[in-house]
Amino acid sequence: MKFLLRQLLTHSVSPVLRARLKQQPCILMFHGFTDRPHSGCENSQHKHLHVEKLKTFLQFLKRHYQIISLNELTRCLSMQEPPPEGSVVLTFDDGFASCHQLAYPLQQCYEAPATIYLATEFVDQNTPIWTDRVDYLFHAAGLQPKEMRALKQRLKKLPSADIEPVVCELEQLHGIALTRSNRPEIPAIYHSLTWDQVREMQDSGLVNFGAHTHTHKILGHCDAATIGTELATSKQLIERETLRPCEHFCYPNGGLGDFSTASEQLVKETGFKTSTTTLAGWVNRAQGTYLLPRLGVTNDLDLPRFDLMLAGFSAGMQRLRNLGN
Ligand SMILES: [Zn+2]
Repeated sequence: MKFLLRQLLTHSVSPVLRARLKQQPCILMFHGFTDRPHSGCENSQHKHLHVEKLKTFLQFLKRHYQIISLNELTRCLSMQEPPPEGSVVLTFDDGFASCHQLAYPLQQCYEAPATIYLATEFVDQNTPIWTDRVDYLFHAAGLQPKEMRALKQRLKKLPSADIEPVVCELEQLHGIALTRSNRPEIPAIYHSLTWDQVREMQDSGLVNFGAHTHTHKILGHCDAATIGTELATSKQLIERETLRPCEHFCYPNGGLGDFSTASEQLVKETGFKTSTTTLAGWVNRAQGTYLLPRLGVTNDLDLPRFDLMLAGFSAGMQRLRNLGN
């Protein structure tokens, strides 16, 4: 068994193995991108993929899979048509500026469509998502990544309203606060897209935009009124700025307990045609277009492991990798 695993990790997956899950489409989840090495707490959870890896992964996908848009997958699922064999959908969460600066040129080069889910307060007001404020604080204060990960996991279990006072107190304690994401002195990985960049990418026909709430609240911990406001605000802002219908929604954090029957009903009532989670898995054509699972792509993956993941050999690793930021 160990020999087989070693072979799998050091050699590419054979065409026979790769074909195993090609009948089932999969949705890949990325966050931001980077062109620099990082240290300390900055990118310690690997959510910003190095741009050279993105290039390698896109070349691989073009060779062995078919990259289709989320709209095309939705159409197939709604019409109960089989999607093209080996269909892969690209999604980028949160709305980082690096999606425009680093990923978009490669998307154009490889004709790779993607959906970007925007946490609209981040894009509209450059207000960082609280998880990035914690990352920045720990990095700037020279604290340990292990402590940061533990704190974030504890905070994610709290009611949403209780998170902000804790983060504020930490910022005051250390005298360090990431209050605006797009200032020149702030590292580029924390910067958000601008609406002009959103419109430029949308006009290319290669990128469309979905909602990811307004303030990136974990909806499983919110009351119905807050969920309704988060969904409607993000949808309306994206539609106001793009003049296109915003039909796709992505749950922040997106794991078990981060959504509910009630939140799913509100997602449908708000007018979204799809929702995605961070639950690891492939799209089951019979399940419809809501609560779709995804596979997380993070900077600790290399090409052999990326190949294995797509071929269905690392679902256990995926549960750890889907950080759900
Ligand atoms: Zn997110």
